[in-house]
Amino acid sequence: MSGKYVYFFEEGRADMKMLLGGKGANLAEMTNIGLPVPPGLIITTEACREYLRNGRYFPGLEEEIREKVAELERRTGKRFGDTENPLLVSVRSGAPVSMPGMMDTVLNLGLNDRTVEALARATGDDRFARDCYRRFINMFGTVVLGLDHAGFEKILEEAKEARGARADTDLGAADWKEVIVAYRRLIEEKTGGPFPQDPMEQLFAAINAVFSSWNSDRAIVYRRINNIPPDWGTAVNIVMMVFGNMGNDSGTGVAFTRNPATGEPGVFGEFLINAQGEDVVAGIRTPQPIASLHEVMPGVYRQFIEICEKLERHYRDVQDIEFTVEKGRLYMLQCRSGKRTAQAAIRIAVDMVGEGLITKEEAMLRVEPAHLDQLLHRRIDPQARLDIIAKGLPASPGAASGRVVFDADEAARLGETEKIILVRTETTPDDIHGIVAAQGVLTARGGMTSHAAVVARGMGKPCVSGCDAIRIDYERELFTVGELTVKKGELLSIDGAQGHVILGEVPLIDPSLSGEFKTLLSWADDLRVLGVRANADTPADAGLARSFGAEGIGLTRTEHMFMAPDRLPIVQKMILAGSLEEREAALSELLPMQRDDFYGILKAMAGLPVTIRLLDPPLHEFLPNAEELAVEITRLKLTGGDPAVIEAREKLLRKVRALSEFNPMLGHRGCRLGISYPEIYAMQARAIFEAAARLVKEGVEVVVEVEIPLVIDTRELTLLKKVVDDVADKVRAETGTALAYTVGTMIEVPRAALLADEVAGVAEFFSFGTNDLTQTTLGFSRDDAEGKFLPEYLEKNIMAANPFAVLDRAGVGKLMKMAVELGRRTRPDLLVGICGEHGGEPSSVAFCHEIGLNYVSCSPYRVPIARLAAAQAQVKKPGREYSTV
Ligand code: PEP
Ligand code: MG
Repeated sequence: MSGKYVYFFEEGRADMKMLLGGKGANLAEMTNIGLPVPPGLIITTEACREYLRNGRYFPGLEEEIREKVAELERRTGKRFGDTENPLLVSVRSGAPVSMPGMMDTVLNLGLNDRTVEALARATGDDRFARDCYRRFINMFGTVVLGLDHAGFEKILEEAKEARGARADTDLGAADWKEVIVAYRRLIEEKTGGPFPQDPMEQLFAAINAVFSSWNSDRAIVYRRINNIPPDWGTAVNIVMMVFGNMGNDSGTGVAFTRNPATGEPGVFGEFLINAQGEDVVAGIRTPQPIASLHEVMPGVYRQFIEICEKLERHYRDVQDIEFTVEKGRLYMLQCRSGKRTAQAAIRIAVDMVGEGLITKEEAMLRVEPAHLDQLLHRRIDPQARLDIIAKGLPASPGAASGRVVFDADEAARLGETEKIILVRTETTPDDIHGIVAAQGVLTARGGMTSHAAVVARGMGKPCVSGCDAIRIDYERELFTVGELTVKKGELLSIDGAQGHVILGEVPLIDPSLSGEFKTLLSWADDLRVLGVRANADTPADAGLARSFGAEGIGLTRTEHMFMAPDRLPIVQKMILAGSLEEREAALSELLPMQRDDFYGILKAMAGLPVTIRLLDPPLHEFLPNAEELAVEITRLKLTGGDPAVIEAREKLLRKVRALSEFNPMLGHRGCRLGISYPEIYAMQARAIFEAAARLVKEGVEVVVEVEIPLVIDTRELTLLKKVVDDVADKVRAETGTALAYTVGTMIEVPRAALLADEVAGVAEFFSFGTNDLTQTTLGFSRDDAEGKFLPEYLEKNIMAANPFAVLDRAGVGKLMKMAVELGRRTRPDLLVGICGEHGGEPSSVAFCHEIGLNYVSCSPYRVPIARLAAAQAQVKKPGREYSTV
């Protein structure tokens, strides 16, 4: 332990976030670069950790807090409980990384029956002072004492009713006095103790509440979603109050130094005249755009813009700022790196390189690869006719359709199996699980910086906020827009880039890359050493992959071509064949079709390598379901069906039953099919080489890699390579072309990885099929695991992440690393890639870079993600310093 648990802002720095929390560290930094920050203290995360470990204060902490508060009193010239000039403070949490809305805040602490009079005198505004006091009692009651907000709300509503008042602002000082009495009575009833009058007692209770809120349910959920370690703890910020609600020369707001949705330069934000911070963040009143501050307080506006510019230059990144104006005087209450959409992140990173603020290498690190998904996903087809029923604020881009749900719990439940849109008046941190499960969020209130907007942007989900045209009736589970009623379960769409709310489902279209996006990716390509290919089974997919920057195809799954409706009957004929001749006859029907497939794909990828995998899945996947067949046969018999048809169906059923397996994943599939039916692989090899020969004759460059799946031993590979080589020789002779190709294997079974040095004696390349390699290494069948026990494994922290999404470095990764080393011992120039789902997942891409793979291969839409992730892996390579300005 450091022995120092309380810091003045003057004593901290921005790089002390682990100790002082993000908020405290930045308040300290702003203070030290000369910005107007109200005086304050930070109790460290270390104190929080100790407190939570012991469940109480440890020796010295309380004394230190008392000492520093006394010093704060001296510095501000105000005193706790003073009847002339009382010190009032806000108490806020501040974790090392920002956890928006997750932790609690108490404002106006220090007010009591006597100091409220002083505040009234000092401001000459009795009503204002009592309004502050009742807000404080309410916040203290809910946040510190854990009472239900509804009890306070009820008292307020009753007071308004008694006065015939419509809004809070219609209540006067005398009314607030009564409300205060009723609030205090409520606290006494519920807690059995009085509302504390001693500011020090209030302060310690608030500090304890902030410490404890680290372990609140919603903080735990947020940490789990965002991979924040549970043992960091939160700091506590104690800051002298400044009031944004002291009249029309006061106000409060939030702003970003650039637009967080689009990245456009220029300060972007919102403020409310005569309001306290909570009013903006909670989305209770819909605020005005920051530019209008220029009209009401031009001097403050100019100062504010200057500060924004200074902060951006200082931090060299976009800042998200909270500020308050008290009687014409500006105070900065918070700054932090601004959360932004992927689109904005790209624009800002590219612009900042242009402005000389950051280097290209730093720009790589400013964009979260996984967030690119937002741009690589679909948007509403501009040709579509839309039934736009309302317009709100474009709070988080992207489009989504789903069924309307009004309750976060219900959203969390239904969202598992269907697409839903969460519709709320406003969201709070308690709704987070509902937002996670929803396709998108629509709120009736709140600005661009409301809770829903911030959280949705962070998750890359579409959000429309502040849509005040909609009126929600939670009880009847519907909302109305003018005459129109939309009920729970009805289909609704939102366009978070436009702020549109659209009735029904909408057609979505594929994305394309913007200019800045292309620029960023071209820098990524200059930096990265890891190749990026795509998994593609059709010429169209190959073309798309190429347009997204794929440098080849890492996996063509030939079975997808067998599934086409016009081919399936021929494939079935091949499977049902009673003799080799019969099978070869069916295969020769398939040959021209496969040849066309390969011709198209190889042509689309002209000049780039294409890995074509020979048939992999068990054959029964191409046949009908046994039960359905049996039912059909019974029905045919009962209805006097054609005996010839019945016989044919019975023959099929016998074959289906013969091919059925206890565990098809570990059954007769992969190269085992090639061993049993070499003629199938021979046909596929012929289709490949004939297509290649034709292209060579047409002057198109082809780079063919023939891939044998699921091998466990070199002997399989030797036998099957001979099948391929023999066909190649024949096609060369027949066509008179000099065909070049390589033969390699997938590594999908631990035995192949263990014997990689031997396997590399035959295989000219490896490709890790990590979907199967994960199944076979963990002994998990993917579908059973994900559907049954895996959620529990994650919940109980047995595994940190779903191993089918994020590569299991400890197990599967160890096998991969070993296989690469063994393989290259035999064949130093062995080409090694990955084609499982992990090939497009950023942290798995980083691992592939670390163990020296040549390339990753992923679905076309993830190619840009992989390009950026590969560049990041290079920039962040251990021992390598990246350049800064
Ligand atoms: C793999 O197993 O990782 C792979 C790419 O093959 P498939 O998903 O087709 O089994
Ligand atoms: Mg596989």
